[in-house]
Amino acid sequence: CGVFGVIGVAEAANFVALGLHALQHRGQEAGGIVSHDPEQGFNSARRFGYVRDNFTKASLMETLPGELSIGHVRYSTSGSKGQTQLRDVQPFFGEFSLGGAAIAHNGNITNADALRRELIERGSIFQSASDSECIIHLMARSLQRKVPDRMMDALRRVEGAFSVVAMTRTKLIGVRDPLGVRPLVLGQLGDGAWALSSETCALDIIGAEFVREVEPGEMVVIEHGEVTSHRPFAPTQSRFCIFEHVYFSRPDSILGGRSVYETRRQIGVELAREAPVDADIVCPVPDSGTPAAIGFSQESGIPYAMGIIRNQYMGRTFIEPTEQIRNMGVRLKLNVNRALIRGKRVILVDDSVVRGTTSRKIKEMIFDAGAAEVHFRIASPPTSWPCFYGVDTPEREKLLASHMSEEEMREHLGVDSLRFISLDGLYRAVGEAGGRDPARPQYCDACFSGDYPVAPSDRIEGGFQL
Ligand code: 5GP
Ligand code: SF4
Ligand code: MG
Repeated sequence: CGVFGVIGVAEAANFVALGLHALQHRGQEAGGIVSHDPEQGFNSARRFGYVRDNFTKASLMETLPGELSIGHVRYSTSGSKGQTQLRDVQPFFGEFSLGGAAIAHNGNITNADALRRELIERGSIFQSASDSECIIHLMARSLQRKVPDRMMDALRRVEGAFSVVAMTRTKLIGVRDPLGVRPLVLGQLGDGAWALSSETCALDIIGAEFVREVEPGEMVVIEHGEVTSHRPFAPTQSRFCIFEHVYFSRPDSILGGRSVYETRRQIGVELAREAPVDADIVCPVPDSGTPAAIGFSQESGIPYAMGIIRNQYMGRTFIEPTEQIRNMGVRLKLNVNRALIRGKRVILVDDSVVRGTTSRKIKEMIFDAGAAEVHFRIASPPTSWPCFYGVDTPEREKLLASHMSEEEMREHLGVDSLRFISLDGLYRAVGEAGGRDPARPQYCDACFSGDYPVAPSDRIEGGFQL
């Protein structure tokens, strides 16, 4: 998901809409905006679909007045069950004794089932099926006298990954979990106006200046044009999601001081060194494989070519919720550039193989177009484990790499060769020259390693084996 907030500008909700539009790649299912105005109080709107189709209408935006606003774009993660209802769309808003608050959450709370059970037993009335709603109820029950203190109370009970953007009547608040799994950045919009965003690309769109990241375990509170920093959690080694670098974030964003594009290009360079192959052209599976394919081509000297053309009017395939739509999705979204492929030995570079659906379809399309050979090069290690921290991976059995060796996957996909970047190669590409430190891994890489930095307690209770 993507979160965004703005304080200190007129019609703040319009800025939030623009920010969310720039974060649309983080969630395309639905979006929501809450604003506050001293006269009209809190207002909110939630809609299914793209930001641009909803939060551009003057009739809707007029209902979201005020200089303080937050928003959220959603895609359902492994924590959510069944079809999303409108009531599950964030931000969540609640009135309680200190005047209420709204929150937008990116990540996944791994003890949400237990918390929800406890809260319901104690009388909380839940409105949604979302794990994130727990935070509002925990805040409402806290005995602290200030909303930020209540938020700290609440978040100390929460396990898992969270980057939260929240607002009260007067404050914009941003928090990252102690491991800093999901991103969150602070931007300045001019005198006394500030923004919080999942990624820097959304600061660019509103002309805000990137100031710094909210640090892992940090809470920033912005009021009257001032930013104060708090440390509600015990310090620990951070574990940022390495998959944000590989796929999730936009290539024009800066993560941990690194250009996402440059990291992805470097992944391609590493791949070309680790898994070279003789071929005529290097083609990305667009858009997610593009920077890595450029790096692969530069390092190998094999020409880069756009062998697959993407229809720009389709979303990301994996966000489509059902298998059937996902299957069709590949053809709706990608088409082979036949004239270029015929008779060629093709290296195809993609970011990841999850269920293998995309890769199989693409291989078929490429061979149909007359390719002589197809070699897959994948910009992440095999995805063998589900993510419990906010990225939508299916159950373990549906992950190809959970039950197949690399050679079995190659056979299953029907290609001439298949190679994944090594975990150390990936760490080198994100700037860790010495690779992964097994004693103190610098990133979360659980979907590749099975090394979960936070035990997914709800799932373990449900029978999940670590
Ligand atoms: P597959 O078709 O193998 O299930 O999915 C792989 C494709 O989905 C890749 O092209 C990749 O761009 C995209 N994808 C990237 N990240 C994820 C993720 O976290 N989960 C899922 N399910 N698909 C992803
Ligand atoms: Fe990121 Fe994978 Fe960790 Fe999930 S399990 S937070 S996708 S690295
Ligand atoms: Mg892709």
